[in-house]
Amino acid sequence: MLKNLFFLFVPLCIHAQDVQKIHANAIVVDSHNDILTACFEKKVSMDNDLKGKTHSDLNRFKEGGVDVQIFSVWCDGKKENPYTYANRQMDTLDAVVSRNRGKIALVRNQRELKRAIKDQKLAAMFGVEGGHMIEDNLDNLDKLYARGTRYMTLTWNNSTSWATSALDETTKKDSLAKTHKGLTDFGKQVVKRMNELGMIVDVSHVGEQTFWDAINTTTKPVIASHSNAWTLCPIFRNLKDEQIIAVGKNGGVIDLNFYSGFVDSTNKNKETQFARAHKKELDSLKQSGVQAEYALTMISEKYASEVQAARPPLSMLLDHLDYIVKLAGVDHVGLGSDFDGINSSPQQLDDVTSYPLITKALLERGYSKRDIGKIMGGNILRVLKANAK
Ligand SMILES: [Zn+2]
Repeated sequence: MLKNLFFLFVPLCIHAQDVQKIHANAIVVDSHNDILTACFEKKVSMDNDLKGKTHSDLNRFKEGGVDVQIFSVWCDGKKENPYTYANRQMDTLDAVVSRNRGKIALVRNQRELKRAIKDQKLAAMFGVEGGHMIEDNLDNLDKLYARGTRYMTLTWNNSTSWATSALDETTKKDSLAKTHKGLTDFGKQVVKRMNELGMIVDVSHVGEQTFWDAINTTTKPVIASHSNAWTLCPIFRNLKDEQIIAVGKNGGVIDLNFYSGFVDSTNKNKETQFARAHKKELDSLKQSGVQAEYALTMISEKYASEVQAARPPLSMLLDHLDYIVKLAGVDHVGLGSDFDGINSSPQQLDDVTSYPLITKALLERGYSKRDIGKIMGGNILRVLKANAK
C-alpha cells in the first residue's frame, strides 16, 4: 500500500526543458572515442560534417553537449613501429585543434581543462589504447604523456611482453602458463611510471591477472575506459563483480561501453542469424572480390531495418549502469562510448549527439541531478584530478 502511495508522487513525465537544463549544466565527459582511427581509415577529417560516415565530428560533439573527450590512439598489435603510428594519430588531432581554435583545445592540466570548459570548447586529451604502443620503452611513455596522453590501456586485445590481455587470458590459457600471465616486473614499472607522470592506468581489455596485478601496484585510482558488467553480459572483457567492487574501493571509475555486443548477451546470436539469413548475398559479394568485413557492412546497410531492430534497447545499457552503482556506488561509473570503434550501439544512441538521451534515462530512473552530474562526467574528472601531478 505504502509502495502504491509512493508511486503517486513519482513524476510521471520528464520535461524536455529539464533534461536540456540538467544536461547543459553537467560537465559531460566521454573517456573513449575512436574517431582518430576512423578518420585515418576513411580518409576524412573531423572538422567536416561526417554525418552518415562516422559517429563523431566536431559540430556533433557540441550538439551532444560533450565538454571533454578523451580520444583513443590505437593500432593493432601487428602494426610495425606502433609508437611512430601513435604519434601520427596525435599529429592529426593537433592539426584539427590548430585549425579550430575556437572549438577545441588540447588540455594537459587541470587549469587548461577548466579554461576550455569555461570557454565552451571541447577539451581534448589522448588515451593510448594498448601498451604495445610504447614499444617496451619507458621514455616513449614519458613522450606520450608530454603530448597529452592522460591514460593508457595496459593492453588492447593483444598482450605485450609485460602484460597479458583479456583475449589472450581467456583463449590462450595453456600457452600463457608457459610464458607469463599478468604483469611482469617491467609491467609493474610501467604502472609506477604512469602514477609518477600523472597518467591514469586503464584496465579495459586487460586479463584478470593483469587487472589484479595493476590494481595492487597502482597508488592512484584506475579507470576501465570502456567496459561493462560481466554478470549482465558475460563476454571476455567485461568486468566481473569482484573487479567492479575493487575499482570502487580503489576510487576509480568504470566507463560504460556502448557496443551492443558488450551490452546485450544475445547480440552475438543475432549477428550470426543475420549473416546466415543473407549468406547467399554475402557469398556472392565475396566471390566478386569484396572483403568479408566490407561485404557484411554492405549487407548491413542494405537491410538497415533488420539491423536496427536487432540493436538492444537503451534501457539495457542503463541496466549495466544500475548494476555497477549497486556494487560499487554512484561515484564509480561514467561513459566511455567507444563511438567510431563499434558498428552497433543500443537503439537511439546513434552518434555523439545522443548523450542527452542518457541524461533523460537517468532522470527517469530516479537519479538525482547531483548523481547525474557525477555519472555524466564528474566521476572521471575526479579520477583525472587524483592522478594529476
Ligand atoms: Zn577497445
